[in-house]
Amino acid sequence: TDEVALIGRSNVGKSTIMRELTGHTFTTGGKPGVTREPNHYDWASEDFVITDLPGFGYMQGVPEERQESIKTDIVHYLEEYADNILVGVIVLDGKSAVDIIDRHTTEESIPHTVEMYHLLRELGVDTVIAVNKMDKVDDRDDRLDAIADRFGLLPPWKQWTDTIAPITAKKGNIGALEDAINSHLEDHKRHDL
Ligand code: GDP
Repeated sequence: TDEVALIGRSNVGKSTIMRELTGHTFTTGGKPGVTREPNHYDWASEDFVITDLPGFGYMQGVPEERQESIKTDIVHYLEEYADNILVGVIVLDGKSAVDIIDRHTTEESIPHTVEMYHLLRELGVDTVIAVNKMDKVDDRDDRLDAIADRFGLLPPWKQWTDTIAPITAKKGNIGALEDAINSHLEDHKRHDL
């Protein structure tokens, strides 16, 4: 089945986005990091599913090895199903993403979120960066330019509206993400003709 995959750290708002995109309520409940299997949901009237991959990154009460194995599982999942993934959506918390990325960037390693973005590109998957929680961001354009920069996209971010989608999922403000996803889905349809 064709799918749109949501990828991101815990607590960035993946379940909220899923709910807004599908109109369904999902009880994700339980401890973070416990649901390791990808969850699939049908997107009304479209013939593809949305996959909510387990969140990765630091989670209180979850041992570090487990956090690493969640990330490894996601990498394997993306490699295995790349051909079915129409669009990969990397979800960020707009308020904290730049700090977290900078804190996790060293000479030898890059943060998981950035790594996942490059992996999707290498696998040939169209990728959208959903910058969520924009209601908590004051310096909107500066923040989005900084995020573009961290993913190797030359600012200004406005050049990248098919890739960078600022949203406030909690308030149902996800139009930029729907537009970006749809622009990639339409590209696929054109190629299929
Ligand atoms: P997940 O772990 O990635 O699935 O994240 P959730 O969807 O469970 O959201 C984590 C927390 O962020 C919840 O408290 C949400 O209400 C909150 N949240 C989600 N979207 C937004 C948003 O656009 N703005 C703000 N301020 N909070 C949000």
